[in-house]
This record gives sequence, structure tokens and C-alpha cells, in this order.
Amino acid sequence: MSMAGINPQNGTGQPYANGPSQNPVGVQELPAINYGLTHQANYNYSPMQAKATAPPGPAPGIYPSAPYQHVPQVSSYQAGPPPASYPVSPGQPHLTRPPLGGPASHTPPQSASPGPRPPPAMSTPPPPAVSSSGYYPNPQHHQQPAPGWQYNSAPPPAGPPTATNAPPRGPAPNHVSPPAPYSSAPSASLSLSAVRPPTGLQGYGPPGPGSAPPPMNPPAVQQYHPSRAPYGTPPAGPPTSMKPAAPPMANATPPPPKADAGPPQHGPPGRHLGHYPSLPPGYQHAAGPPNTHPALESATQPYVQAPRQAPPGPGPAQLSPSLAAMSLQSGTPESLRVVNLLQERNLLPPGPVPAPTPCLPQDLQKINCSPEVFRCTLTSIPQTQSLLNKAKMPLGLLLHPFKDLSQLPVVTSSAIVRCRSCRTYINPFVSFLDQRRWKCNMCYRVNDVPEEFMYNPVSRSYGEPQRRPEVQNATIEFIAPAEYMLRPPQPAVYLFVLDVSHNAVETGYLKVFCQSVLDNINALPGDSRTKIGFITFDSTIHFYNLQEGLSQPQMLIVSDIEDIFLPTPDSLLVNLNESKELVQDLLKSLPAMFEKTMETQSALGSALQAAFKLLSPTGGRLSVFQTQLPNLGAGLLQSREDPNQRASAKDIQHLSPATDFYKKLALDCSGQQVAVDLFLLSSQYCDLASLGCVARYSAGSIYYFPSYHHQHNPAQVERFQKDLKRYLTRKIGFEAVMRIRCTKGLSIHTFHGNFFVRSTDLLSLPNVNPDAGFAVQMSIEDNLDDMQVVSFQAALLYTSSKGERRIRVHTLCLPVVQSLSDIFAGADVQAMAGLLACMAVDRSVTASLSDARDAMTNAAIDSLSSYRQSVLTIQQPGLLAPACLRLFPLYILALLKQKAFRTGTSTRLDDRVAAMCHLKHQPLAYAMLMIHPALYRLDDLTDEGALNVNERTVPQPRVLQLSVEKLSREGAFLMDAGTVMYLWIGRNCNPNFLTQVLGVPNYAAVPDNLYLLPELDTAESQRTGAFVAWLREQRPFFPSLHVVRDESQLKVALMQNLIEDRTESALSYYEFLLHLQQQISK
Ligand SMILES: [Zn+2]
Repeated sequence: MSMAGINPQNGTGQPYANGPSQNPVGVQELPAINYGLTHQANYNYSPMQAKATAPPGPAPGIYPSAPYQHVPQVSSYQAGPPPASYPVSPGQPHLTRPPLGGPASHTPPQSASPGPRPPPAMSTPPPPAVSSSGYYPNPQHHQQPAPGWQYNSAPPPAGPPTATNAPPRGPAPNHVSPPAPYSSAPSASLSLSAVRPPTGLQGYGPPGPGSAPPPMNPPAVQQYHPSRAPYGTPPAGPPTSMKPAAPPMANATPPPPKADAGPPQHGPPGRHLGHYPSLPPGYQHAAGPPNTHPALESATQPYVQAPRQAPPGPGPAQLSPSLAAMSLQSGTPESLRVVNLLQERNLLPPGPVPAPTPCLPQDLQKINCSPEVFRCTLTSIPQTQSLLNKAKMPLGLLLHPFKDLSQLPVVTSSAIVRCRSCRTYINPFVSFLDQRRWKCNMCYRVNDVPEEFMYNPVSRSYGEPQRRPEVQNATIEFIAPAEYMLRPPQPAVYLFVLDVSHNAVETGYLKVFCQSVLDNINALPGDSRTKIGFITFDSTIHFYNLQEGLSQPQMLIVSDIEDIFLPTPDSLLVNLNESKELVQDLLKSLPAMFEKTMETQSALGSALQAAFKLLSPTGGRLSVFQTQLPNLGAGLLQSREDPNQRASAKDIQHLSPATDFYKKLALDCSGQQVAVDLFLLSSQYCDLASLGCVARYSAGSIYYFPSYHHQHNPAQVERFQKDLKRYLTRKIGFEAVMRIRCTKGLSIHTFHGNFFVRSTDLLSLPNVNPDAGFAVQMSIEDNLDDMQVVSFQAALLYTSSKGERRIRVHTLCLPVVQSLSDIFAGADVQAMAGLLACMAVDRSVTASLSDARDAMTNAAIDSLSSYRQSVLTIQQPGLLAPACLRLFPLYILALLKQKAFRTGTSTRLDDRVAAMCHLKHQPLAYAMLMIHPALYRLDDLTDEGALNVNERTVPQPRVLQLSVEKLSREGAFLMDAGTVMYLWIGRNCNPNFLTQVLGVPNYAAVPDNLYLLPELDTAESQRTGAFVAWLREQRPFFPSLHVVRDESQLKVALMQNLIEDRTESALSYYEFLLHLQQQISK
């Protein structure tokens, strides 16, 4: 009989009644760690005086005995307000610190933004270069001359192969199943990882339990009926009249609202917003008369146009859903409605862009994986690679595998049922031949149903294997039995490595950091085994003995940074519960200890080496806080940025690392289950391109706080506080690996994100966090003949902070189609943009930025010309796109103007690299806000259409186009760009908004550098506050808010995000469309 027990996790519901799950894993203590100290380097150590009353000097008997007795001197470190006098022992040959004093070398923080933007030049910017050669070279040629992408199995230029060959060191999780016989994917190269931070246009689902607001507009549901045989249960309704060959599917649903049928625009009266006036490229500043082109609405199209406006009233609702769909759509799915981009201006839906729904029978779709977790660029998979090549769209998956979920079924079972051949986990898309046999949906092997699986713990009944939770949930978590571990699950281990150089102390970050850890120390994920440690560094490395029983923390300074060693290996990482008071003492005294330091050097590399040694025996999380370019010892870097070259250079240099030191260190870390998270708080160039490797290859995260300063940049300080709190308290998985499987015939070949590819398709993730996103590219190796659906499964094996080995499994099912029009109908434009952004980051590093930019432009040209040539049977003038791709050129233009890829404006190298890292590491929902910010008008918010979230009324203003045309001087506008929000106040702003929301009498009284909205007792203030707070709740990081006046320097940053407008170096959206059209009609 089964031992299964199931319980919901972090959800409010109680889907299963078996009560809390039992941890089947016997927690064992790790073997004692023994360090042999062979070094005789110079060091000293000193007790830290944490309390003012304690006498300075060493407390007797608190030092470890054996290895240290020979140390000549022990000196004390006086913590607290008086200038720190660092221990200098007489007779000790080497000072551990240079004497205090001397000029400070601190560089004042630079302004966050360049000077005001010069007026746009009147000359037309150069159009994007287009390669004359084919974008899709002959498949026989794997070397790709043209800056296009081959969306097939050819791997991108690979990085040095050494990394892939690095054997895992030390114990490794036992997730490695034998390679599936079908996985002929070329081994993914290392060169493909970088990172991304979070934001979501459509993933507007907050992580909080049950608080997910409904989408602002109902997700557009496809009623598309593919011209293939029906899958699953035959529909009940009558067959569709349009495609007699294809019986309708069971999932016909009411029609989606037309994208352009949203609420009326808030634009100034008299300005026509619906269509492009036929004006020259400077059109966006002109308020032209309405200029509709009804004739162009494709009466001649193969797909008959549905009425442009959604029919008023409940008419179709009186019909059954399938009838309603048919009567409205006449067989043409909304996603294939022909849109002339040069004519139709209002392309943005009023709210978030919904993810397309795969065209599956309703019973499958109902159970399918959420698009917030698992998305494919093409929700209808082409049957062959040649069909995919013809469509010229990228094929890949975007994943957010460890997302915080409000509902997650968790299964404890003595046996986890997997395919005996390919090791796929049993899932909702397998088929049961009978009660005793199931067929794998990846490799089609027929497997036996184990006896215990016959019992269903949900219904407490026997003989219904199809009703087991594993077969009812596309996302599920298993508590793994002992065979899923090679060693006892590691404890939660946290090591913080802190820059305490003069520059670091100047920024004031240390105080915020220490306070934040103090505030959240009881919320760090973990259990009774949790360990913690701290290292600080400048030109030397400082360790802290926090062994239980000490009266105060001891500081141990190692000045031999060339050959770093651990002074007291057993007492530097301590049990948090046992040493909590010492940890708190240390955190309270750290900021003052370095207050007066004049040490300007930074031996980051040595500090990381020390931290690696400390964490190697257990694995864990290494959090590094760095504020300057490391300029001493291992891994030292030199400035590679010439600010004068920023704007003028045709191509951007130094996007690749200057040294392989950080990558090598990361791979060492990965082998020992250590992930490195990098917090960069700086006003200077730090060479993030080099430093970032330490996080990228160890599956860490990169946090970037440019121009951080505790006084000059309070908005950044607030952001740091909030992000740090999330970082410290969010869920964490240790010693993780992730494998992505797909149905035989498909092949995964390139991965994007932060990880190390351990074997062909196994990603090594020493840590996994709920805010990390991943992407993979795919190709079609074998024809998917006879297949109606294919599946993808991501399995993430990790150790929870409570020491449980768990496996989270997501399975996505998608239909296979045979025609180009079906492929186009299923295109997911946001997923495509997100995947192309990842590919473009790789291309920027391995080839050049201009190459990457060309490739993105070509991606738009290719897909639209393929659509024109192969899907549209009757040609007509204009730039035509299917409705589902109508935003594609806009997103491509947005990417070209994104900080990561833009040219012509002064972009700091670290800012650019940070944007690239974030595009690769952020889940799609958050990356989309970076790519295409959302613009809202805030001075006329009403409760009409508002959401009610936790008894708060949250107004829902519509999303506006990113054009200065939308900014009225009479209004106030919020631009949400993911990690930052700008609230622009027009010069003649509605006085009501000024007084009731900002609390100032007039425009002139709006303060500079305003970053907090006052909480006033007015309806307007509450509405605005509720909306901004609601936006912030949608993402796991904290966007700072800047109030921007016309005179503000930050206005430049805001204007740069108005991507539909022309800048001195980049085309307007309309010009870009003309350029695309020209290339397509060549
Ligand atoms: Zn299988």
C-alpha cells in the first residue's frame, strides 16, 4: 500500500487532506571538517570590543589553542566611535594595515544621468544596417556570415571548451539520469550565459497567496482551430463552417476583446490616436487629422476580417461559447487578423499583453503549465525544421522554474514514478494504456504503473492512477527519497563578503546592510543547522571568529593576500542559532569599525578565494558587496572604459571579461555547490563584464546599484533596503540541478541564464532563487509526423533551506501543426522578444554589438517577410503582420533602444552590461518592462474599472504608447520601466494633482529629487498611492520612483524610454516600420 502523503505548500487552499508531509529524509550531521593549516603567513587577530564597557585587549582563554599559540602578538581592535586604531603589534614584521591617514582617494559619485539631452538633430538617423546576405544561411553552412540567426541546432559561437569539461568537484546531487536516447542535442556551450533582473508586463501575478488580481483585461483566448485532426474528446458543438476539414475543438471560447477596442484614450481632444496620419517621419509631433484608410482593411485577404470593434452588448453571450466564437470569427483567429502596421497605430492593449493560449483541447489546456512558469515562443510547434526555417521565427522556451507560487501541490511518495527509458516524471500528458501501463510522452516507452501508484491519496481510493496528483498537475513538487542524494542534504549556509575600503564606507552601504541583516536575521530561510559567516576586506582580508562561547566576536586579519588561508576554519562559519548574539554584536559594530578607514585598495579576488575555501566543505550562498574596481591581488582589474568613447564608438568594446579569473572561480564554486551573488554599489566603473562572471557561472544573481550613495541618492538607498530584504528572506534552494526534457524529435541546444552546463542538458545551480529566469533555444531534429502534441518538462532538484531534497516538475504541452499559418497564429511575441534579447546579448559578446543589432532587425524583417510571402495569398500594400505579431517590430525597436543594445547615446559600460545581465537572468514578465516600459496617465485616475485588492481600490489606467505625443503638459504621467519608475509632471499640470497628490501649491514648488509620494488624506493621493504600490507588488524587486520635472536631469532617461520617437541617433517607430517595409519588399 502506498505511503503517499500530499500537502499544499505556501498556499491558502487545502487541496489534499493527508495532512502535512513527513520528511522522509534522515537529516544527518555533516562530517567534521578538518583543515590542515600549513601556512605560516602573517596574521594577527584581535577580539572585537562590541560593548563600550568591555576593556580593550584580548579576553583570556577565548582563542583557539593549537595552531595559534605560536602567533607572536595579539592586539586588540577598538570598536566604536573613536577613530579605529588597527592592531599594530610591536615586533611584528608586517603590518596588517597601512597606517591611518593620508589623502582619501574617494571619487565623488557621478551624476546618475548625463546632462540634458540635446535637441534632436533634424537629420534623419541612419537606418539599421541590413546585411545583404541571407539571414538564414544555407543549412549546410554552420558558420554564419550574416548577422542573422539560424533558429536551428547550430550552436552559437562557443566559449572556451574548458569549462564544459570541468568535472564537478566534490559531492554532486544525484539527479543525473542516463541521457535520453533521443537527446542528440549538441552540447550547449558555456558562452551563452548571462543574466537578467525581474518585471512583468503580463506576469502580473503577485507572489502573495491568493492576492493575485485578475488581469486588467481578460486574456485573449484563441479560438483558432488548426487544420489537423482533433485531439482528445470530440467537441459537442456543430462543426465550424469555415474549415470543414477540421472538426472544431472542444475549447471554443468567447472571442477576445479586440486589441484596439479598449477604453478611449486620454489624449488631448482633437488628436486622432487611432491611425497613423500619412505624414512624413516627424509625424509623431504633429496632431494630424484623422486619416483612416478603410480600404486597406484587407477585403482581399485570405482571412476575412472580423469587425474591427467588438460587438456591443451581450449578443454572442447568448450563444454557446463555441457558437459565439464561430459567429464572430468566421474561422479567422484573432491572432491571424491582418494588421497594416503603417496604418494601425493603437497596437497596445489597455493592460498587460496576455500570453497566448496554446490551441489545445480544453481538457489538456485546463491542466497545462502556467505561462508564468513555462512559455514557448511558438505555442504551435512546427512539424519539421524546414517548416520552422520557413517561418523564420525563433523557437525556444522561457522558464521561471522556482517562482513563488500560491498553490503548489507537494507529494511525498515512496516511489516517484518516472519513465524507465528517458527518466521523465509522470505528468498529466502521459497516456494510460490501461490501469497498469502508461506511455511516456517524451520517448513513447510503455511503462508499468507501480503498485503503490494505484492508490490515490487524494480520493483515498484504489485503482485510479489517472487521478493521482502527479497526473492532475502540470506543476508539482516531490519530496525526494534517499536515492536522490549523494550526500546528506546540506544545511543553509550564508557567507557575506563585504567591501570595507574607504570608497565602500563613503557610500554608506555598510550601515544599511548591517541593519537589514539585523532586522531579518530571524527570517533567513533555514533550520537549526543554518550557518552564517562574515568576511570583510580592503587591502587585507578580515575574518570573524563567532564561535559560541566567545564574549565578543574576534577579528582575524590576514594580510598575505597572495596565498590566502583560513585562520580558524572551524569558527568562521557558525551555527546561527548558537552564535546569534555574537552575530548581532558584530553587525552592530561593523559600520563603526571602518568609519575612519583610509584604505583605498580592494583585494576582492583574494576575499573571494578565502570565501570559497570557507564554503567548500558544505556549499552555500556567498553574497559579495563590492563598491569599486578590484585593484590588488588576484583578479585585479583595470579600467577599460573611456567615457569619451561612449557615445561615438561605432561598436562597444570590453563587453567580454578582461580576465578569466572570475569565471574560473565561479566554476570552482559551482563544483562545490557554492553560488555567488554580486551586489555592485558604485559610482565608478567596476568592470561588471569581468566581475559578473563570478555570479553568472555559479548560478548567482547580480544586483546593480549605480551611483549608490547614502546622502546623494536616497532613492537608491531605499531600493537597496527593499531588495536586500527580499534577498535575505526569499526562498532558496541549495545544491540544485535542472534538466529540461522534450519530446523525441525536438532538441534543446542553447541555454540562457546563470548556471553552468554540467552535461548536455543538465544545468548546475548551486543555488536557485525564486526570481531567476532561464531560456533555451530548440530545434526540430526529426520530423514530428504523426504527433498531435509535444511536451516539455523542466525538473528542478534542490535542497530546501530545511534540508529536504525536493524536485519541482513543470510540464508544458503544445500542439504540433503542419502549416505556416498555424505556426504564425500561435506566435508568442513577448516570448520571442525575450528570447531574441538573450540571443542578442550572446551575439554582442561573441561578435559585436552592431552584429547583434542587425540580427534583431533582421529577425523582424524575416518573420514579417515570411508571413507576407507564405501566409498571405493575396498581396496588398503596407507593412502587414498577423495580429499576434503586431507588437514585434515595436519590441525589436525597443530592444535596439534598450540600454543593453543602444548606440549613439552616452551609456556607461557597466550600465550596459548590467542591462545585458538582467535581460538574460530575469523571468520574461519582468524583462518585458525593461524592454518596453509601461506609460500611464495619473492625473485623471478614476475608480472606473478599478481592481479591488485586499479591500483597496486600485485604479487601472490604460497603457499608453511610448511617445512624447502622449505626454501632455497638463498632465502627470508614470513610466514604469521595471527597476525604476518616473513620474513626469507637466509644466501646466492639473493643479488638483499638485495639491492633492504631491502636496505642493504649484508646479514651481515641486521639489527636485522627490522620490517619495506623500501620503495625503485625499482621494487622489490614495488612488495614486494604491496604483503605484500595486505596480510594485507585481515584482520581486523594488523599483525606485523619481518625480521628474521638465528641468530635471532625469528627464533624459525618461525621454530615452519614449521609444516610438526619433532620437538623434535612432529611428522613430514609424521610420523603423518604413525601413522594415523597404527591406521586405526588396
Ligand atoms: Zn520516456
